[in-house]
Amino acid sequence: MSIDKSRFILSIYQKDNTTFTIEWLDGTITHHRLADLQKNCPCVRCQDEKREPNAEEVSARRIFSVGRYALKIEFTTGCSKGIYSFAMLKELASK
Ligand SMILES: [Zn+2]
Repeated sequence: MSIDKSRFILSIYQKDNTTFTIEWLDGTITHHRLADLQKNCPCVRCQDEKREPNAEEVSARRIFSVGRYALKIEFTTGCSKGIYSFAMLKELASK
């Protein structure tokens, strides 16, 4: 059985407090701004309400994986309920 290597994360690291970088198993590298991810928070509350825009600069206390398909990010401020699927992360990656 073969696996889709573009769907697995090899490592996650932070070069600074407001961004992080994902290295995928297929060799792709994507960069993510924490503030941008939080603005796209997929949790029910953020999707339902038109909330005040979150802060321009947001850091993460903790980033950890949920199963084999998603990440959860504990932001230092604002909503931390969102679960970011790997597919979504690839879509939201900053170019
Ligand atoms: Zn949220």
